[in-house]
Amino acid sequence: MHSPRDFAARDRPRDVAPAVAAIVVLSLSACTSGELNGVVATADTRIPTTVDVVWDLFSPAGETWVEYGSSADTLDHETPHSTGPTATLLGLVGGRSTWLRAVTLDSAGQRWESAPQELTIAGPPPALPIFTISDVDDASIDPGSVVLLTLLKDGASWIIGLDRSGNYVWWLESEHAVDVPSLHLTADGRGLVYLHQELRGDGEENGVRLASFDGKTYELVRVDDAHHDAIQLPDGGIVSIVSTDEPSVELEDGTQAHLAIDVIRETPKGALLLEDTRTIFSFLDDYGHAPWPMCTHFDDAGPGGGKDYVHANSLSWDADADAILVMSKNLDALVSVDRATGDINWQAGGRFATLSTVDPWSHGHMSHAWSDGFVVFDNGYHHPTKASRAVEYHIDHAAGTVEPVWSFSSEAGTFSPLLGDVRKLDDTYLISWTVGGMLTEVDSAGTVVWRASAELGNATGRVLVLPSLY
Ligand SMILES: [Zn+2]
Repeated sequence: MHSPRDFAARDRPRDVAPAVAAIVVLSLSACTSGELNGVVATADTRIPTTVDVVWDLFSPAGETWVEYGSSADTLDHETPHSTGPTATLLGLVGGRSTWLRAVTLDSAGQRWESAPQELTIAGPPPALPIFTISDVDDASIDPGSVVLLTLLKDGASWIIGLDRSGNYVWWLESEHAVDVPSLHLTADGRGLVYLHQELRGDGEENGVRLASFDGKTYELVRVDDAHHDAIQLPDGGIVSIVSTDEPSVELEDGTQAHLAIDVIRETPKGALLLEDTRTIFSFLDDYGHAPWPMCTHFDDAGPGGGKDYVHANSLSWDADADAILVMSKNLDALVSVDRATGDINWQAGGRFATLSTVDPWSHGHMSHAWSDGFVVFDNGYHHPTKASRAVEYHIDHAAGTVEPVWSFSSEAGTFSPLLGDVRKLDDTYLISWTVGGMLTEVDSAGTVVWRASAELGNATGRVLVLPSLY
């Protein structure tokens, strides 16, 4: 058994960050047997729903964790177990109190814990909208999961995380009026990778950001002229869509045109110079077809002012094939590109599809693919009825076909001209309707099982769902 003398010999609490306002010393009471002391909780300065907790360690150290919840009697969450007297709490509810206690299981198996203490978490910035949750079928959703999304508002973007009650449990401030058009997990699954484009200023902060959920990583990888989407590969490299300006390109009919052409660029981990990057695939040099005016959107101005040929907007990595999937909005094509050789494995949709594509999309966006399927947010620009929908397609490589196996149309017949996104979950699909400011989770039968609606003027962008932020 430990006696109070054990505490006298304990290690000193490790130094905590100097942001005094964010530090709450939770317990300074005298030691009693079985009680842990010296608990200090520090909210992350960028992500206030992330809190580091340290407490006094006595020797020998055992298993450690923090239990927390909405009241002193409801400490129904806990951090992953560790061996040191520290833990990081992720996904706390902004603007609410969290109660927590530190726990150490010593090597003899005795449990030591601090008295439950209250910690007030800062609320989300007032610019962020209230989400109204409705149509909830608890049996069909994962009630503990977190929905992460990009939020577009007033010419800027945010990344936010909502719990299933619509509470803000994670957010990143929109710095310098940035545009965040993409959202993927980092390769280690511990954070987000996203395109970060300044809408004003000198563009010094343009590139691809890596932001861990615990706030410890907040890194910018410079990628010039990147747009729409970026992903991270398991080796840490970044693959992004990059626009190149081609002043004079010969089109299919022999005429010349000034074009914006997209390429797929890989930036290896640690690369600092353009020379260190690599073009995996170019829609001019590697596509195998001379550009043509594919639809009325050809005459729109792309980046650099050239005609908006390609307009690639989505990337995924096919691990089985080590292939990059790139979706071209204006070619209505999903192209699988061999990462090593740049050769086209297959194309679904579009004029030069190699897979026969049934009921194809018309100018879509995509964030989620797997080896024999993918989901598309079909904006529906050129459908007979201009309305948006989400579609899951199944790929049968042997038969050379791509066929829809599920779809859900906008209930209001709404056409979303911007973004839009869909992710397939275990038994459901989460759809972001962008301009409607609404997320709907829909089951395979087409029943809405969860809905989050923001106030007018807020657009929801890309989405992803995690069982938890740990
Ligand atoms: Zn078009």
